Amino acid sequence: MTSRLSKAKRVVVKVGSALLVDQKTGAIKASWLNSLVDDLADLKVAGADVILVSSGAIALGRRTLGLPKGKLKLEQSQAAAAVGQIALAQAWSEALRARNIVAAQVLVTLTDTEERRRYLNARATLSTLLTQGAVPVINENDTVATSEIRYGDNDRLAARVASMMSADVLVLLSDIDGLYSAPPNQKGATFIPELTEITPAVEAMAGKPVSGVGSGGMITKIEAGKIALSAGCHMVIASGHELHPLKRITEGERCSWFVAQANARQARKQWIAGTLQPVGRLVVDEGAKGALDKGKSLLPAGVKDVTGNFERGDTVSIVTGGEEFARGLVAYDAEDARKIVGLKSSEVEKLLGAEATHEIVHRDDLVML
Ligand code: GLU
Repeated sequence: MTSRLSKAKRVVVKVGSALLVDQKTGAIKASWLNSLVDDLADLKVAGADVILVSSGAIALGRRTLGLPKGKLKLEQSQAAAAVGQIALAQAWSEALRARNIVAAQVLVTLTDTEERRRYLNARATLSTLLTQGAVPVINENDTVATSEIRYGDNDRLAARVASMMSADVLVLLSDIDGLYSAPPNQKGATFIPELTEITPAVEAMAGKPVSGVGSGGMITKIEAGKIALSAGCHMVIASGHELHPLKRITEGERCSWFVAQANARQARKQWIAGTLQPVGRLVVDEGAKGALDKGKSLLPAGVKDVTGNFERGDTVSIVTGGEEFARGLVAYDAEDARKIVGLKSSEVEKLLGAEATHEIVHRDDLVML
């Protein structure tokens, strides 16, 4: 179990406000943060891509702004986040830089992970950062997100990021060491070390939010588990109270594993093949079919015809000889796709600019039927 984390190729680590911000002083807990960054650096040395999702902007900013204790109004939280995010990003950036790792601040809203076009953009940016060896430090863009379009908690946000980036492990570092059959202070509550499915019984185990600083609690962690498992990503809820919280997981410290049954790639492909209704067709030649059979991406040069009306990120059928043999998420809208039918990559660039992607359907977004 513990090797799931040490063997992972892509890890998302979510850090809750209660761990990062001292409740008494309102300052960042620097030695804890440094010990976590040591663990992250170890994961990177072992070859993993690392993405951080860090809360703490509101907790840090509220004191600096002189806001009262207790529950804040939405606009007060947003103002606090605007102040605290600066300190938060700086703390991560400095700690990572001390280990020769570049930090990248990424602030996202719900629609960035829900709406397909923005989703593809967010994913491309994060992929580029990872390729360059940077560690994205993600938080919700609290200052602009209004209540209807807000995650409000970073547990679900982290799970969406893990799903979007096909991570294989999502770590939720929390002020509690895992899931219990009932609120842990209740008599007879037992610890759940591992589960593979989120049944109504599991949902019923989540009590009321426990921590006074963040906005999570077990309910949002279970919701995060649903998102992660359906994306083929394992999730672990572990305590972040001690130093080196990730190392402790790999050394077998008690924590709750939500074990995915499929891997991220399979899950994504199932999702493309099964749940989405194609809204367009790309007719391709035999050569392109051969390349796709070998696991390559579909390039405009291999496309002979485009039918239907679609947006970038929609699902299209890939057809040859009148028969659909693959399905994928298309990287261009229908209008641009028609313009680049049969063109070589250099010609696509000339026509649509250097920022145009060369694949019309990327192999990660493609499923053979
Ligand atoms: N985005 C919020 C912050 O940075 C935290 C959300 C949460 O507590 O999960 O303060």
